[in-house]
Amino acid sequence: MKFTPVPIALAQCSKTFHGTRVLEPIDLTIGAGETLVLLGPSGCGKTTTLRIVAGLETPDAGGAVFFGGDDVTRLPIERRQVGMVFQSYALFPNLTVRGNVGYGLKIAKTEPALVRKRVDELLAMMRLEAHADKAIHQLSGGQRQRVALARALAREPRVLLLDEPLTALDARLRDTLRRDMNTLLRGLGITTVYVTHDQAEAMELGDRIVVMSAGRIEQIGTPREIYYRPANRAVAQFVGTINRLAGQWQENALATAGGCIHTPEGFAHDGPPELFFRPEDARLVAPERASLRGVVETVSFLGERTRVTVTGAAPEALVIDVTGRSQWAPGSAVGIEIAAEGLIALP
Ligand code: ATP
Repeated sequence: MKFTPVPIALAQCSKTFHGTRVLEPIDLTIGAGETLVLLGPSGCGKTTTLRIVAGLETPDAGGAVFFGGDDVTRLPIERRQVGMVFQSYALFPNLTVRGNVGYGLKIAKTEPALVRKRVDELLAMMRLEAHADKAIHQLSGGQRQRVALARALAREPRVLLLDEPLTALDARLRDTLRRDMNTLLRGLGITTVYVTHDQAEAMELGDRIVVMSAGRIEQIGTPREIYYRPANRAVAQFVGTINRLAGQWQENALATAGGCIHTPEGFAHDGPPELFFRPEDARLVAPERASLRGVVETVSFLGERTRVTVTGAAPEALVIDVTGRSQWAPGSAVGIEIAAEGLIALP
């Protein structure tokens, strides 16, 4: 099978339903072969954006969608050459696995020998050969998800669109399938738009992530940029856990209730007197060894790590992740060392 990836551009695409604007005008480009993840809380407009790419929704007047050089804004889904997987999979219950995967090809009046060859190839790719003649209700959730993917790929689409394809599965299976999905998408090299509200999925699968909230794009960046250089509080708080330290700027430091945090050379002290850091970018040490101190409040052993909350160092309790084996007693005084590269300033 051969996929010819196409770049996608959305220009000033907004969407209004019954007088309510649910998507503000957005501009978005997706490179040929790139996997772009739309991430955000429920109702933020991810699915609406995906449906505009698919041709299931038309943007409000003034918006345009391009696949390569083609303006596809008015083109319905069946003429856009997109493959789509829905959260519910929407498989045909009266067809076998083979029947589902080959359905689109049959409708397109593809020669039966080619349908068979293409379906066999997809069943092998998705490790479904042993299930080819089963009915859909005989399959596990993970197998159904793979049938839906195979069906979406059967007509060699220019673009693959996935709407929360792993959400219906239990957590452990989701982890495994996320890895499989990653391998698959990298191998196919197809332009993909992937909608999820799960940050782990977004981090693992996205070449770039678009963080959305309330119908707007908050940030577009690689997973590392989104995580380590969030554009604002909304992004910082939605993606992972983040700690806030607040106090007063001093020369080369931020003074807080628990002491001070030295800022790296060249750090601009012109914003509000606040610094942020991720739980894994700090260490707990003996109080006399650190310039920032607090008191251990809670200790949660999570296996591979232990999550400790510390009060008295900043206005709010700080969350610090330490190795699973290290032990801290609630009520004891601790020092907090934050890696200089872990300090984040937010607008
Ligand atoms: P979820 O993860 O819950 O699917 P989402 O980020 O994908 O959320 P959308 O499905 O894009 O969000 O919905 C954005 C907003 O638009 C929501 O408030 C939703 O209720 C509204 N909306 C979506 N489709 C329609 C429609 N056909 N008619 C009216 N309102 C709609």
